[in-house]
Amino acid sequence: MSDAAPIIRKLAIIGGGLIGSSVALAARDNGAAAEIIIADSNAANLAKARELGLADGYHGTALSAVEGADLVILAVPVGAMPGVAADIASGLKAGTIVSDVGSVKSSVLKSLSPLVPAGVHLIPGHPVAGTEQSGPEAGFASLFDGRWCILTPPENVDAVALEALSAFWTKLGSKVDIMTADHHDLVLAITSHVPHLIAYNIVGTANDLETVTRSEVIKYSAGGFRDFTRIAASDPTMWRDVFLNNKDAVLEMLGRFSEDLTALQRAIRWGDGDALFDLFTHTRDIRKRIIDAGQDDDAPDFGRPHDS
Ligand code: NAP
Repeated sequence: MSDAAPIIRKLAIIGGGLIGSSVALAARDNGAAAEIIIADSNAANLAKARELGLADGYHGTALSAVEGADLVILAVPVGAMPGVAADIASGLKAGTIVSDVGSVKSSVLKSLSPLVPAGVHLIPGHPVAGTEQSGPEAGFASLFDGRWCILTPPENVDAVALEALSAFWTKLGSKVDIMTADHHDLVLAITSHVPHLIAYNIVGTANDLETVTRSEVIKYSAGGFRDFTRIAASDPTMWRDVFLNNKDAVLEMLGRFSEDLTALQRAIRWGDGDALFDLFTHTRDIRKRIIDAGQDDDAPDFGRPHDS
């Protein structure tokens, strides 16, 4: 626990799953909030959060949880955010910051703006950190360490509120970047959303194959398929909402991806080894740059244990 004064007096987290519970744990560990409240509509998850001692108070309804809160963070699937924002509107005091952790930002900004009362500061956000797991027991305090948190404020944002939210995420261990919601959605479409779609697709294709048995797919998965299955194990509700809410940017990036895939198909068909070699050399360099930037581990095979 840090000894500096907390940035936020009362923090209300709506949705105590992987990200919400990690925010609670990181806020407590780093002394970022004096009081932490969790609300969750899933009674089993709320009971689990209580059992794990993630917060100072637990609520089955979002409205009662936000009473007196200085910062409210919506950590529910993107499709559930407008409903939660409508539910809490009457309970928000002037000066409160309402933020979120959703993986899509334009739709959140557009749908929440009319629901947030005057005097309340809406500043959407997205911690670019996570795992394929869900629920309160999946959270951990170091999830945001060294990871980017992108804030996408509206044009007329209150500078003091933006400063406070940036300081909060910095205290949780994040590096903070600020950009427009539209730009966020375009960047994340290629770095996160399309890769997830590809993983869902390739695992689905392998599952449908008739000439290769499922047991063979599992048995020989270490050849690359296994890494796709980790991503394709991600939460179905969350990812359904991501694609429904970032449709334009995903379709734009998918179009480019398909063109490049066709070029690779042609290179294979015509035996153009130079084209393949050049691309594979270039992509290897991108992996090195991600590791150099501290955004991944350079352990072989992601540090998985192997028999000697
Ligand atoms: P999660 O583990 O499934 O947790 C979400 C929790 O919120 C669940 O307990 C869920 O209950 C509850 N909930 C759903 N609707 C609610 C409502 N209307 N009111 C109150 N609680 C509600 O999900 P997560 O992975 O933490 O994701 C939360 C958000 O973070 C999403 O918007 C996602 O896009 C974003 N995000 C996720 C990751 C990641 O890697 N997972 C990374 C960055 C950002 P039910 O289980 O009953 O629905």
